[in-house]
Amino acid sequence: MLFGGNALPRLRANPRLQLTAFGARDRAFFEIILCRAPRRQLKRSTFGGYWQPILGSTNRPAEPVPDMKLERNMTMVVQPNVITPDQKAGGAGGRADADHEDRVGAPASGAARVPESRVTVDTQVLVVGGGPVGLTLAIDLGRRGVRCTLIEQKEAPQFLPKMERCNARTMEIFRRLGIGDRVRAAGLRADIPMDVYIVLSLAEPPLLHLPYSSVEQARAEIRARNDGSLPLEPYQLISQYTLEPLLKSIAETLPSVTVRYSCQLESFTQDDAGVTAHVRKADATSGTIRAAYLAGCDGGSSMVRKQLGIRLRGEYNLLELRQALFRCDELFDRIPIGNGPGKARHYHVADGEATFLIMQDSTRHFTLHSVVERDEDMKRMFERTVTLQVKYEMLACQPWRQNLLLADRYRDGRVFLAGDAVHLVIPTGGLGMNTGVGDAIDLSWKLAATLLG
Ligand SMILES: Cc1cc2nc3c(=O)[nH]c(=O)nc-3n(C[C@H](O)[C@H](O)[C@H](O)COP(=O)(O)OP(=O)(O)OC[C@H]3O[C@@H](n4cnc5c(N)ncnc54)[C@H](O)[C@@H]3O)c2cc1C
Repeated sequence: MLFGGNALPRLRANPRLQLTAFGARDRAFFEIILCRAPRRQLKRSTFGGYWQPILGSTNRPAEPVPDMKLERNMTMVVQPNVITPDQKAGGAGGRADADHEDRVGAPASGAARVPESRVTVDTQVLVVGGGPVGLTLAIDLGRRGVRCTLIEQKEAPQFLPKMERCNARTMEIFRRLGIGDRVRAAGLRADIPMDVYIVLSLAEPPLLHLPYSSVEQARAEIRARNDGSLPLEPYQLISQYTLEPLLKSIAETLPSVTVRYSCQLESFTQDDAGVTAHVRKADATSGTIRAAYLAGCDGGSSMVRKQLGIRLRGEYNLLELRQALFRCDELFDRIPIGNGPGKARHYHVADGEATFLIMQDSTRHFTLHSVVERDEDMKRMFERTVTLQVKYEMLACQPWRQNLLLADRYRDGRVFLAGDAVHLVIPTGGLGMNTGVGDAIDLSWKLAATLLG
């Protein structure tokens, strides 16, 4: 097995011999990637999360910002969630709604900081955070007829890269939500292999090829072996900046879901009957939302978790890398390795900077990760990795940190936490969002069962 600084010279000396000695290919892959980069002693960030945008970027808002009505007294008035005809007719949702009005209509003494008459918003579940976890939770709650309000501090989903791999379980969940086909249609084409290469550069023969089926091939395998040993759905490559706007647009179509962007949770209190959340809009107006339950899906720097005093434990700042998003229209068709030009998803470079290149869902965008000092260095690393003469543009660049952290608890009374708010993992293997989607689905049916009976 190869470790740390010894790995690279030995790999260069006899790569194939060393690599075959690893045994299981995924383990080998993981070990090479994790062990070869220099560890750094890093200052702790106030964010706590492993995705920490620090520098400015060329963000592109993907959708218009929904507006909120504001009263003259500056208390925010969110329109009550729409009740479906079934609910009105006394279906499960309707009964819960009536119960809910009884329970949360009058906040307990001391729970809200504004006069009772101004507490104009009430909902069954307040979801904080419009990342993939909060949006998935809102969609599942909405499909179950639970009235919920999702608030997100950003104006709109951002065109910034983060995850790109939905694993098989997440795709099974999206299928159950009735959105699997839409996720696939927005993601990478089904015929493109998901192979991984370990390379010195894209212009040289690869050191190692880890073949992974395309979605088409995986589906054929699943059809051919219907013995329960394979997942119902294969994985899907879809960039987070594609997935988030899609999930948002789906959540917005659900009658019992209200989605509010440009709305930040500032603090909250809870009592026996519910949670009172104090929120602020981008224009500095503020308001109160009363909910039976609050779900903090507010990411690695979760203010909900911090206010509850729940600690994350584990390993902070294992490594700091830079991630740059490149647009390069010709690269996909010109990469000489692989089963045809450009047909792979990850290229890990066996260098001392832990460099790796990831194809995004459009096949026109690529992210490059590398341990370098400055944003500008990322262009040099891109050229060194790609080697080919191609036209490209660097659209964004940000540092990010790898952490392995887990919260002590996922709940305090009527407040729950999910996703990066409670666990931060290294993205190798694509676990962060996928784990969070699992949290969301687990929380959703339990909240629905409690609220709807
Ligand atoms: C480089 C990289 C690659 C990755 N690749 C993968 C992958 O392939 N597969 C995978 O599963 N995971 C991957 N991940 C991890 C994945 O991106 C995260 O796990 C995922 O984004 C977590 O989702 P979330 O909804 O919990 O949190 P976030 O995506 O962080 O969303 C939290 C949201 O809450 C909002 N928010 C925060 N505070 C407030 C507040 N007070 N009021 C209102 N809104 C608030 C934030 O603006 C944000 O939109 C990767 C991460 C990185 C950095």
